[in-house]
Order: sequence, then structure tokens, then C-alpha cells
Amino acid sequence: MPESVMIAPGIRQIDTLLGGQDSLTAGFLVEGPRPALVETGARTSTETVRRHLRELGLGPDGLAWIVLTHVHLDHAGAVGDLAADFPSATVVVHEQGARHLVDPTRLVDSAARVYGGLLDSLYGRMLPVPQERILAAGDGLRIDLGGGRHLTMVESPGHAKHHQAVLDEDSGTLLVGDSVGVMLPGQPSLRPAVPPPDFDLELSVGSLHKYVALRPRQVVLTHYGPLPDAAAGLAEAEETLHRWVELAERVTRESPDAGVEEIATAFESAFVPPPGELDEAIRARMELLNGVHGNAAGIARYLAKRRSRAEGGAPHR
Ligand SMILES: [Zn+2]
Repeated sequence: MPESVMIAPGIRQIDTLLGGQDSLTAGFLVEGPRPALVETGARTSTETVRRHLRELGLGPDGLAWIVLTHVHLDHAGAVGDLAADFPSATVVVHEQGARHLVDPTRLVDSAARVYGGLLDSLYGRMLPVPQERILAAGDGLRIDLGGGRHLTMVESPGHAKHHQAVLDEDSGTLLVGDSVGVMLPGQPSLRPAVPPPDFDLELSVGSLHKYVALRPRQVVLTHYGPLPDAAAGLAEAEETLHRWVELAERVTRESPDAGVEEIATAFESAFVPPPGELDEAIRARMELLNGVHGNAAGIARYLAKRRSRAEGGAPHR
């Protein structure tokens, strides 16, 4: 697979080569008189993304916008480095994510809890972005790339509270970050991306419905690339989310002491094809990026929050 490919007129998908692996995590350069980079990749990918932008002819003043779908480190880790490389670029992030760019301490601490050793070996951390470089986006914010081209932010919580998709009105391309799930080359079906601490089923489904209403010509995942059919992919994403949450509900109903381990085991047997039916390298890539354990932990936390809401108790933190 080539490292950079046009996925729509004026939209180039850049392989950030996360962990040295191809087709795992993308960034997108949207061309125009005032070009935008959507998703920076992890901090460990900085040099790869920098090289692509240089080879595409972008000088230090060549990038007007750096847009983040959300501040998870595989999508945004390189933002501080690239903001320094491109001093005239404005960094666009959902308003609830902005403070994490100014001071990434809490974000990195929380990532360390989720990723463990992978934090430094795979993702790297994040340099801060000066406050005055940041545009905190609300739903519907449009940025101007010149020549009549605009990108519109589509607030889409569920995977994270501060998630937004990015719509290119010209081509009908919707860059959806992690909100639709993960589908790597060779992966048999879409897998939801539902990590702790934010995952929320109702918000996720609401975001998917919002996407459907936009009637995008193309839905593009950061992990990895355009779905073969936008409408069918969005429908599959919703159905898959419900199936994963329902299975976790069943596990906890049948054995009330069941925890993340038991839910993960159930996911493994229900949703991961047995060895022999699934290429081991593909299984390993899915686990590395979007493992069943992380998803089990995210859904378990969501179910606990929902139970405590239903019991009228104090909200879980
Ligand atoms: Zn994410």
C-alpha cells in the first residue's frame, strides 16, 4: 500500500506509519490556498508526517490549519511538534479538548493508565500547544481553506466527549476519526472503538445518526481509510455497537460479579474469528490498536455509569 494516496479530489491520505506499521493510522491533507492537516498522528509519527508535508511542497508557512478529531494520542500526539514546525497554522480542536492541548499532563497520565508500556514504545507523549494558537470548536464551526473550500466540524461525542468529525462539503467526504470504529485492511468486519473513560452508547448512536443525515458520499476512518460503502458502513457501525454492548450486558446479568476479564473473554469468542480463520498478523494489529480488553473496559464502565444513573446514585467518575 502506498504511503500517501488521494482519496477524494484534493484530499490526500497520509500513512503515519504508527509503530513502523503501514495502514494503521492515517492523517489527511486537505488541499486549498490555505491547506489543512486533519489528524497529526502520534508523536512517534512526527518525522513521517513532517517528511510527507515537506515532499508535498509545504513550507513553514504552507499549512493554515491543523484539525484534530479528538485528543487521543494516536490522533493528536504530534500536534505540539507540528504546530511549532508550521507557526502560522491554527489548531482546531473541540472546545472540550482544548485545555488538554494547552496542558497535556492529565491527558498523558490517563493515556499511561490505558496504554501502559505502549505509551512510550508505540505512541509517545505530547508537547503543549500555546493557547493563542488554538481555535476551540463548537458544532458546525466552518474553517476557510480558500478557493471556496470549507471544512465543517461535526460534533460527535460517544467515543470521547470531545470528538468531532470533519466534513469536506466539496467532495462529500466525512473524516470520522474513531467515532465509527476501526476497520484495518484484511479485518473481517468493523470493530467498535469504545475505550474508557468516555464511551457512551446513546451518544455514539446519536453521532452516527447525525452522520447518516449528512448523507456523506464517503466515510473515512483514521484506522484505516474510506469505507467501501458510506451508508452501509454507518448502519454496520450502529448494529455492531449494539451487539457488543448487549453481549456485555448479558455477561454481567448472568454473573453479577463478572468484570472486564469475563466481558473480554466473551467478546473474544463471539467477535474474533478463531486462529486459522483470521490471519495472525491482522489479529495482532487489531489487538494492538483496538484490543478487546480496552473495549470491554470501556463498555463495563459505561454500563456501571448507566446503572448508577438508573439507581439515582451519584454519577460515576
Ligand atoms: Zn480515540
